[in-house]
Parts: sequence; C-alpha cells; structure tokens
Amino acid sequence: MARVTVAGAGMAGLVAAVRLRQLGHAPRVVEKGTRTGGSMLLSSCVLWRHLDWGRFREECPRGDEALQRLVWERLDGALAWLESLGAEPVWHDTGNPLTTGRRYDPRALTRLLARDVEVELGMPLPPEAEPPLVLATGGFPARLAAERGLLLRANPWSDGAGLDHARARGAALTEGLHEFYGRAMPAPPARIREEDFVPLAQLYGRDARVLTDGGVDVTPVSVAWHENDLAQLIGPSAWYVVDETNERIEAARAAGGTVVERDDGRLAVHVAAAVTHTIGGLRVDTSARVLDEAGAPLDGLWAAGVDVGGVATGGYASGLAQALVLGLAAAESAAR
Ligand SMILES: Cc1cc2nc3c(=O)[nH]c(=O)nc-3n(C[C@H](O)[C@H](O)[C@H](O)COP(=O)(O)OP(=O)(O)OC[C@H]3O[C@@H](n4cnc5c(N)ncnc54)[C@H](O)[C@@H]3O)c2cc1C
Repeated sequence: MARVTVAGAGMAGLVAAVRLRQLGHAPRVVEKGTRTGGSMLLSSCVLWRHLDWGRFREECPRGDEALQRLVWERLDGALAWLESLGAEPVWHDTGNPLTTGRRYDPRALTRLLARDVEVELGMPLPPEAEPPLVLATGGFPARLAAERGLLLRANPWSDGAGLDHARARGAALTEGLHEFYGRAMPAPPARIREEDFVPLAQLYGRDARVLTDGGVDVTPVSVAWHENDLAQLIGPSAWYVVDETNERIEAARAAGGTVVERDDGRLAVHVAAAVTHTIGGLRVDTSARVLDEAGAPLDGLWAAGVDVGGVATGGYASGLAQALVLGLAAAESAAR
C-alpha cells in the first residue's frame, strides 16, 4: 500500500500517526505550524464524554447520531489506549456530575504522542497531496474568527486548508458551519497571550446580565453549564454586568481589559467571543472516511478531529475526545 500522509500534528493527527505505526505503517506527517500539539498544547486537556447518552443527544441535538455514538462508546477504551502508551492522568475524573473522562498534562501528552513520530514542521499539506491521506488540520477557527470579527482562542494555523482540500475532491460538508466552541474573553484592548487562554476565559456569564454595546439587555432565559451558547450570542463585543468581582474579572482587568464600575454599584466587563474550534466540517462515516454529497466514501481520504463536522452540532462536546476517537478510527480504517 502507498505511504499514508497525515496532515496536522495536533491530537487527531498524532494519534492517527501513532496508531498507524502500531499497525505496521510508516506515515508521513506534515504540520503547517512550528510545533506539534496543535490546540491540545494550549488546552485544559480534559478528555470527556457525557455520562448519559440521552443527555449527549439532548445537548447536541443536531449532531450525527452515529458519530456521537462512536465517540461516546469508544472514548473509555481510547483513554485506556492512551494510558497503555504511558499517559498519566492528572485527574481521574472531570469533577462535573454530567460528564466523565480524564485530564492530562497537555505538554506531557504532546511529548508522549510525538515521541516516535517524525513530523515535518513548517510544512503545510501540499495541494497536490495524493491519497491515502488523513486530514487532521483542526477545522477552520482562524477563518471563522476573521470572517466574523471574533477573537481566536486556538492554534493560529487552522484556517480550513483540510476542508478546502477535501472539497476540491468532492467532499460534502455538514450543517452548523457557523457554529463554534468558544469562550467569552476580555474584549480588546486586553492583551491575550496563548498562555492566558484558560485563565482569562470569562466563565461566569450564567450569573451576569448580558448587554449589547448599545445597552440592550439580551440576557437569555437560561444558559447552559458550559456557557458555549453565550459565546455564540455575544459576538465580537458585549458587556457582562455582575454584582461583584471574581478572579476571572481581576485577571481581565490585569490584562488591560475594560472593567467599569457602574452608578448602580455593579461591575460591567467588556467581553468578546473567541473561537476555539469549529463545530461544522467534513461529513465522515464511523470509519472516518470522508463522504461525498451522495454519502459515498471518497477513495483514500479520511478526516479526524475537528476537521470532522457533526459531532456536537447544536451544543458542545469535547474536541479532544473527538480528536482521539476519530484519530484512532481513521488510522485503523486507513491501515486496512
Ligand atoms: C484554551 C483551550 C482550552 C481547551 N480545553 C479543552 C478541554 O479541556 N477539553 C477538550 O476536549 N477540548 C479543549 N479544547 C479544544 C481542543 O484543544 C481541540 O478541540 C482539539 O485540540 C482539536 O484537535 P485536532 O487535532 O482536531 O486539531 P488541532 O489541535 O487544531 O490540530 C490541528 C493541527 O493541524 C495543523 N494544520 C493546520 N493547517 C494545516 C495544513 N494546511 N497542513 C498541515 N497542518 C496543518 C495545525 O497547525 C495543528 O497543529 C481547548 C482548546 C483551547 C485552545
């Protein structure tokens, strides 16, 4: 069989490469960025699934049921696979009664997955790349953020190249292309470095009134536990108004974000939505084969991680779990 190319060395690409090597293949791994790890390296690194299948469906109602079931059913075994490689959890559970999973140290996990994989850094997927090819380029958060005037809270290199490549070969896209997993962050002029992505997330929106820049109150009737719905709502700029400060507000203030004391004694924090990963993407089957508009697999083309759409449509689920499970599925199918 021809040598498999893996495009992208984030969680999905590295997992696919490690699994392909275990199955006797020597993949070529190309990575556009200057380092391995993709967004995993910047993340809180909690790999999780909903505890209850019904709750997953309820929270991500427009997702592809077969893909959701794949992630939900395979995650626990996939975590055991990671640990068989030597991954050591720093948390053995998520601490969230709705979810189950593990937390790892993102640097240690990246080092472990990249240990035996040769990655060509600074090497974007060549447009003429031939199959067999596993696309793991991290969706199009940079493109979506630029188009919508939002902040980017992800690696800087994922701008939809994998999707464009597959589209040119006749791939179909899922719905939900405007949806993203994201967070409210302090709006400009706050200075946000990659290491601030986690501590600067303004994750108290459930307790806030939400106002537009024009002062219109758009506070939703209810807000989901993960606040991803609020991130979609606020767009490039809004205000969170709260009774008292907290450590995230103080972090925003220290980073140069705008925090105003109002005449009524409340605090107003200027926030902006930041895109972490896109939720829509390529349509694949449960073997991670990229599908065309008629639902037929394209020859020699797989996608993994958040290049794949339709896992969390309408809600929020773990991007790392999706990357791990689909990275394994793509490698096992490509190896066959
Ligand atoms: C601050 C933060 C916190 C997070 N916390 C969590 C969490 O706790 N739990 C969770 O589940 N998820 C979390 N996430 C999301 C999670 O990190 C991502 O969903 C996940 O890493 C996606 O993995 P991926 O391999 O699909 O894509 P990526 O990690 O984006 O990797 C894609 C790789 O492809 C490369 N690439 C892009 N274009 C090309 C090209 N043309 N050619 C070759 N290579 C290319 C990129 O440089 C990158 O290295 C977090 C993310 C961030 C930023």
